[in-house]
Amino acid sequence: MYKRRRNTNKSLTAAQLERFANQLALPGMTAERQQRLVQATVVVLGLNATGTTCAMHLAQAGVGRLILVDCEFVGISDVAVHPLLSMADVGSCKAEIVAERLRTMCPELRVEVRAQQFDPHNAESLLYEADLAVEGLSNWQDKLLASDNCMHVLKPLIHAGLIEFSFHVFSMMPGRSACLRCVFSNLGLDDLPASGPGRGEMGAIAGLAGAFQAAEAIKIITRLGTISGNHLLRFDVLRSEFDDMTRLTGRSDCPDCGRWG
Ligand SMILES: [Zn+2]
Repeated sequence: MYKRRRNTNKSLTAAQLERFANQLALPGMTAERQQRLVQATVVVLGLNATGTTCAMHLAQAGVGRLILVDCEFVGISDVAVHPLLSMADVGSCKAEIVAERLRTMCPELRVEVRAQQFDPHNAESLLYEADLAVEGLSNWQDKLLASDNCMHVLKPLIHAGLIEFSFHVFSMMPGRSACLRCVFSNLGLDDLPASGPGRGEMGAIAGLAGAFQAAEAIKIITRLGTISGNHLLRFDVLRSEFDDMTRLTGRSDCPDCGRWG
């Protein structure tokens, strides 16, 4: 859970006040809330197109430290759906390239690369350093692994899923919301969508999902707005229909959700 105490009395610098002037002009967006972003650490588990988009928006919003976890190399098909990548990057370490672009965009950002597969052996140590996690994992089993471990260490997880021309975003808040396993069961996603090369993905839709993830993360860090838990937003782009699902519940026999009754 996001409970780490921070000294947010440190003032923003003149340069930060100027850079974040538009964001600070939003109702309720105080210098203290901006300082929470500056002092926050977010771990980005996987740099698929949603994860990369989310990392970009978090950096722009002023999150002070990002940990990028991805061991893949840039493929030609990545360039068509990812922001920040170009054909000149094909064959390079994706996390290193994204980190380099983010440093150029936001020189004050501390961005760290963990060029490794997110797996059961490193999951908890990666999460331990962060205030919250966002996942940009392409494999649905890895998304469940992220859920299991975030539930275990009580860290919020912002999940995004793409299925053809629709996407959904779910902010998992341990102790206040169901885990992803239970949410997928609620959604009828027990047979997880296929993943891997050629899975069907459009950059514009992935970008929408990644931006949504970033907005949810910013809300949690700044404590602006409402994170109700058990609340999933789904958008069908072809139908232009939003679906706001609010009664998702954890199963009583779930080892994670069951312990909170
Ligand atoms: Zn559960």
